[in-house]
Amino acid sequence: MTTVGILGGGQLARMLALAGAPLGLRFLVMDTVADACAGQFAPLLVGDYRDEAALAEFASRIDVATFDFENVPAASAEWLAQRVPVYPGPRALATAQDRLAEKTLFRELGIPLPEFADVPTREALDAAVVAIGAPGILKTRRLGYDGKGQFRIRSQADLDAAWEALGAQAPKVGLIYEAFVPFERELSVVAVRGRGGEFRTWPLTENWHVDGVLSASLAPAACDPALTAQAHAHARSLAERLGYVGVFALELFCRDGVLLANEMAPRVHNSGHWTIEGAETSQFQNHLRAVLGLPLGDTGALGQACMLNWIGAMPDAAAVLGEAGGHWHDYGKQARDGRKVGHATLRADTPAALADALARVGAALGRMPQVAPVIARLRD
Ligand code: AMP
Repeated sequence: MTTVGILGGGQLARMLALAGAPLGLRFLVMDTVADACAGQFAPLLVGDYRDEAALAEFASRIDVATFDFENVPAASAEWLAQRVPVYPGPRALATAQDRLAEKTLFRELGIPLPEFADVPTREALDAAVVAIGAPGILKTRRLGYDGKGQFRIRSQADLDAAWEALGAQAPKVGLIYEAFVPFERELSVVAVRGRGGEFRTWPLTENWHVDGVLSASLAPAACDPALTAQAHAHARSLAERLGYVGVFALELFCRDGVLLANEMAPRVHNSGHWTIEGAETSQFQNHLRAVLGLPLGDTGALGQACMLNWIGAMPDAAAVLGEAGGHWHDYGKQARDGRKVGHATLRADTPAALADALARVGAALGRMPQVAPVIARLRD
């Protein structure tokens, strides 16, 4: 009997546990809060990730560790890695936790990305905005997620407000300034690398964000094959350089037919949730296979899929469940503003059929603004 330990007990851990059941796996989830939603499906160990006694107990009860949450302190991941196998490894985690390290790696690998500069001080911010120009975005290097820890700088006039908002965090989490990209599309590539170096990617996903939070994903994204090949090559070079094991996502902006890397998430990713019903093997199943050293499953798409995120509160399920290709995921969380509480995936054999299903669901739930850009793309 193999027990997989997961650091972080949110919906990603919950969906990993669900995907692992057919493999006969046991799970142990560690989280800082007692109502972490993965705890509804797996034993939950409540503790601080910095607490060595809690980590020691966690290590003693598992065979291998992985993450639902990438901001587990790198030192804790290293401590754990001396006791049990940890995938992805602490080095990959540390790189992806720090936007500066991550962007420096993109540059070293020849992966194009928006111009950026390290901003340790207010003077450095002034210099960065002169060098890179405005508009741009001031971001925390660490601990930012879903658009949090970001300030848009439209012109020099915004510098005081930007520093007021984020300057106090400079000594603790670091800041970077990057050029704003007026992108036409946002894409992501979700990929998996096994313990023996086997590498696979799912088809590209197109993503729409609202206020920095993912709202909808469409896959496979209609894309020039050369662009797709480029995105896959970027993901592969990253995985190989980091000796990565498991699933990760590379988020990309597409502008004038060129891909620019935004960031890498060292875990299963929201833009890969469609793979549960829309691909031969889901990202969750393949992540587990990768960390356990099992053969990876085929990543081909089954027709066309769209994932809709439910933020704040769950809508009524009936409209989605009434669709032939409608799938419902309620994470069992308390409703709270801005919180990801669930998602739905609609799957169909053709773009036209998916567009029709989205139109019906969008109208029934009063969510036309969420589905409209996806429908427009499908009818392009
Ligand atoms: P991030 O946390 O870096 O993934 O940012 C969240 C979202 O903010 C992205 O998915 C984009 O929609 C937007 N965003 C972040 N950085 C930029 C940028 N440099 N230019 C334009 N939009 C951005």
